[in-house]
Amino acid sequence: MGLQTLDANGNMSWHCHSGEHDPLTAHISHEQVEHVAPDVVRLPPCPHCKAHSQMHLKVAFTPEELRASNMVDKNGRPTASYAMAQRHIQLKQQLEAAGKGYREPQAVEQDATQAIDEQEVLRLFQKLGYTARSLAEVAALIEQAQAAKG
Ligand SMILES: [Zn+2]
Repeated sequence: MGLQTLDANGNMSWHCHSGEHDPLTAHISHEQVEHVAPDVVRLPPCPHCKAHSQMHLKVAFTPEELRASNMVDKNGRPTASYAMAQRHIQLKQQLEAAGKGYREPQAVEQDATQAIDEQEVLRLFQKLGYTARSLAEVAALIEQAQAAKG
């Protein structure tokens, strides 16, 4: 399973996992076309599938993988699998050229949402009768409780 087509302008098409729906299409600029790992790109979900499952494409191959038995037929000619692998490699290159290459997750920064979560956790702990002034203290209390239990 993978891309059926990818043109030079970044337009692609593929079949969803069900195999029952019309081919899906998207441009590489679609916000749900995402590089989720160095060698994996996730495509937008199929709107017709109940589970809205998303296709994950392998977009990087080792030379060994490209020489594997499924990549060439017995006459040494490239197979459909090889052509698909090349489309996926091309997709990775197009995404990188468009500034959508894989990025390592950023170090977690303290933002407003997390500050609220921390207050929520501290409140819950106070309800349980514990006093903790930070998530580090909460973690220490949990460790103590586990040590006491074990
Ligand atoms: Zn579908």
